[in-house]
Amino acid sequence: DPRVRGIAAAIRVVPDFPKPGIMFQDITTLLLDPDAFKNTVDMFVERYTDMDISVVAGIEARGFIFGPPIALSIGAKFVPLRKPKKLPGEVISENYDLEYGSDCLQMHVGAVQPGERVLIVDDLVATGGTLRAAISLLERVGAEVVECACVIELPELKGRERLDGKPLYILVESH
Ligand code: IMP
Repeated sequence: DPRVRGIAAAIRVVPDFPKPGIMFQDITTLLLDPDAFKNTVDMFVERYTDMDISVVAGIEARGFIFGPPIALSIGAKFVPLRKPKKLPGEVISENYDLEYGSDCLQMHVGAVQPGERVLIVDDLVATGGTLRAAISLLERVGAEVVECACVIELPELKGRERLDGKPLYILVESH
């Protein structure tokens, strides 16, 4: 797709952020380019229209940027998957391991009904640990995870192999 080149070009790579040795993929520059941002959302919308998806679940924080415009365009509800202690209602939690330490995603109980077909959205997949936790959270409430969608994949980290067999759709590979 010819749009991918412009999307990739609009993503800034910041060396040594947030710590030495990390090549940080910065999507804020993509948001500054209305054509590239629109093409990003459009490519996801084209893929997920007419797939009977009723829930777009976005992962804090950058899944909150890409998820809602996709949800509105395909006629799905948007459900935020948040870091701990942000959601005011009753929550279901999923802990997951990071390279150093651990993290947690939470979702409001009742936001997703058993049997609903869900698309999970984030900006980037690295080790896949975050998406894996999101998949687990949704499956625990009886939802059907149709696919995970990210703008960027770091393929060397083989994150897609950690997604319990769920398909992963990405627009840009970063090496
Ligand atoms: P994973 O769990 O190792 O796949 O890491 C993915 C999570 O970390 C996502 O929520 C990303 O937003 C975040 N992340 C990791 N590396 C980067 C990066 O280079 N740019 C933006 N987000 C990143």
